[in-house]
Amino acid sequence: MQALSKFTPNVAISATCTEYVHPWINSCPKASIGMCLCAFKDSFRIYCTVYFISLLMRRRIPTLNDLKHTFQGLLRSTWFLTTAAYGFPVFACSLRRLLGHFNVLTVGFLPAFLTSICAIVIERPTRRSLLALYVANCGTEAAWRMLEERNLVKSSKNRLMVLFGVCLSILTFYYKKGFHLNFEKEPVFDAIKFIMGDISVYENARTFPNQTSSIIVDTSQKNRKTLPGPKFFVQYGFLACLIKYYIYMLDKMKQLPIRNKCCPHNYSCVHYCMDGTVKLFGTGVLIQVALKFVFQLRRTLKSPKTIFSKDTIKIGLFLGGFSAIFRTVSCLLRSLSGKDSELYIFPAVLLASTTLKNHPDASIVLYIMWKSLQLTFQIGKSKGYWKSIPLFTEFLYCFFTALLFHSALVEPRTLRLSYWRFLMGLSGGRVAVMNRKPIDGFGYDTSTQLNEILVKTRSKVPDGFFW
Ligand SMILES: [Zn+2]
Ligand SMILES: [Zn+2]
Repeated sequence: MQALSKFTPNVAISATCTEYVHPWINSCPKASIGMCLCAFKDSFRIYCTVYFISLLMRRRIPTLNDLKHTFQGLLRSTWFLTTAAYGFPVFACSLRRLLGHFNVLTVGFLPAFLTSICAIVIERPTRRSLLALYVANCGTEAAWRMLEERNLVKSSKNRLMVLFGVCLSILTFYYKKGFHLNFEKEPVFDAIKFIMGDISVYENARTFPNQTSSIIVDTSQKNRKTLPGPKFFVQYGFLACLIKYYIYMLDKMKQLPIRNKCCPHNYSCVHYCMDGTVKLFGTGVLIQVALKFVFQLRRTLKSPKTIFSKDTIKIGLFLGGFSAIFRTVSCLLRSLSGKDSELYIFPAVLLASTTLKNHPDASIVLYIMWKSLQLTFQIGKSKGYWKSIPLFTEFLYCFFTALLFHSALVEPRTLRLSYWRFLMGLSGGRVAVMNRKPIDGFGYDTSTQLNEILVKTRSKVPDGFFW
């Protein structure tokens, strides 16, 4: 509790804004203009990529109107992010002049909160919830680490695993109930469908209106698929032979008679479990190999052996293992009880979540947590259980952005490394040059924490700035 008492704004430090906010230049307006120019360049680069990818994802040649809208959106988003950056010195310097000193709230949190209000009103309303979700995700992680630093909470792999299991169960429950049909572009439901398979009767009813409870066997394909012979092996090699053999086996599994009448999947239970496991294991390995080629291209080309390291199957084992446990437990429960129930989702997902135990990733768990909160709120609103709170998304964005700024400026050890790199790029390194010596007065050992994060992220601190 002693550490929490430092949060009271009573402790004041007398440093001027030149000594803390912009030690590279005396003039406050020039410091803001310098930040503005630098942030505009970086924001434009970031949003060019974002908008280009969103154009590609439409999978059609863009019309002139599409390009016009995209360019307008690009400029609007760029200006939003630029404002979020140059607004900080404006408010920090103004608050210093107004109060005559800095306190623990006005060195980071308050100016960032006020800046975020000015910035978020510029961004398109449809993009605001996505931004709020992102900063809430990073911000929760920072807040948790702040509590950890104060010995108020303790992280454990088991807790992360249970949180993941509970939140994913809720999302899968919504999918099973058919609520996903109200959210056409929700990637989390697409991921659930991919991992868990056809578990929603609503989904199946949409795809196969008359065949939800019958086994579909494609007889035209039945005679065409045969086991690959030695000729095929010589002609196409081992891998092609393996794939052909797998497809043959899968086809055989489809026709097995073991299928509960109450199972929502279309073929035998063995096929349902095997298909998901192999498909997801393969997808996981492919993702990891692709990531290696993208982020460690030079190392991978130098020693291609690294592709076959233990690391490569990490995601594959998690996805494959998760799918295997989920599908097997679900089919067993349906078989034992003789009926299908949405409640079976909970034990199946919770048991499957144990595969996360070896590599719990806090950012994925927090993403699932915030996604389940957001969708619960939206579903409840659509059912009339509660009304939406005006400007709640905007408040969430401002609060968590302010928390992240406080973390970067006062307690950098608690910040997610990717967010630090983002702030470094946006400010052109100014966030590292801001003088932390006066901030040490609050008792957080800020200068040491800054050096730690600079080493961890291998950030290069610029010698000086023109403005
Ligand atoms: Zn100033
Ligand atoms: Zn089944």
